[in-house]
Amino acid sequence: MLEDKNQEKTSLAELGEFGLINHLTKHFKMYNSATQKGVGDDAAVINQSDKETLVTTDLLVEGVHFDLSYMPLKHLGYKAVMVNLSDVYAMNGVAEQITVSIAVSNRFPLEALEELYAGIQLACDTYKVDLIGGDTTSSTKGMLISVTALGAAKKEDIVYRNGAKETDLIVVSGDLGGAYLGLQVLEREKQVFQVNPESQPDLDNYTYLIERQLKPEARKDVPELLKEMEIKPTSMIDISDGLSSEIMHICTQSKVGCKIYEDKLPLDPQVISTSEEFNMDSTMIALSGGEDYELLFTVPIADFDKIKGNPNFSIIGHITEETQGMNLVTRANQEMELKAQGWNSFEE
Ligand code: ADP
Ligand code: MG
Repeated sequence: MLEDKNQEKTSLAELGEFGLINHLTKHFKMYNSATQKGVGDDAAVINQSDKETLVTTDLLVEGVHFDLSYMPLKHLGYKAVMVNLSDVYAMNGVAEQITVSIAVSNRFPLEALEELYAGIQLACDTYKVDLIGGDTTSSTKGMLISVTALGAAKKEDIVYRNGAKETDLIVVSGDLGGAYLGLQVLEREKQVFQVNPESQPDLDNYTYLIERQLKPEARKDVPELLKEMEIKPTSMIDISDGLSSEIMHICTQSKVGCKIYEDKLPLDPQVISTSEEFNMDSTMIALSGGEDYELLFTVPIADFDKIKGNPNFSIIGHITEETQGMNLVTRANQEMELKAQGWNSFEE
């Protein structure tokens, strides 16, 4: 679908490993003074004088985590960086460096890796992050990409998953469920295309959803906003697997319970209309659809006035005593136990 048959193809073997790495990384800028040495030596060198270092890694495998028939490589590169930066922001930190490791089969020409690295570079430039290293190797089949992000935070600013306290408010940034529905739309179009390659997809009604799936943004702004508002969350996590499973991580690690209110869940109008079209319950999608990369956090109830009315945030519930369990309060005012249905739970 996305492959242009007339495009130039350069075999990776022509450049050799060092030529390839140099070719892909030479246009990256460095933004952070802590980065002493980036790509080019046996190891990168970072100097975090008075701060703690945050480290996080994700591995993405073709056919498991992404499908190149509708995921352009540039978007894949961008997203692979976002999922890692999101984890750094979820610690209330500042992301500063990444490493990128890739394994590719000989099916990929140089031009494909240039696309991938164009997405990685856009992410680095937008988020002011330095590419400081990685590894490059071949695979017998398909593509693997692993990104490690490094971040910095003052010890007293770091927010863990285990600090939520009874009566704390539960807050989420942005809106939920869009990325999951975007994937459903793309999967549907892929099937239509397989049956009729001449078909022209009409995606106008789904632009927001598709963007949420193909070009997610990590919430770099949230730690900054919280600092400005003089709020330090008691716990925080990013939403990669769906709200239910993430709030359950916070509750389990904090040894508390929670009440989430169905009518408070932030939903974009496209999420509502497209859920209806797919005959799916938008609440289920908000709770269990993953990959939104919003931040979920808890704050002391004393911060209510600071949070309420802020368009970036929705207060969706509160923390309870552990024995009360983890519950969703429905629009009909009934309590249902939350289930950790990750993203794959929709698959039969
Ligand atoms: P070594 O053999 O010591 O592991 P490499 O030849 O793998 O060294 O890497 C040389 C330099 O290029 C190192 O700085 C490494 O971090 C960097 N590098 C290797 N592969 C990548 C990649 N895919 N993206 C960015 N930097 C890379
Ligand atoms: Mg190496």
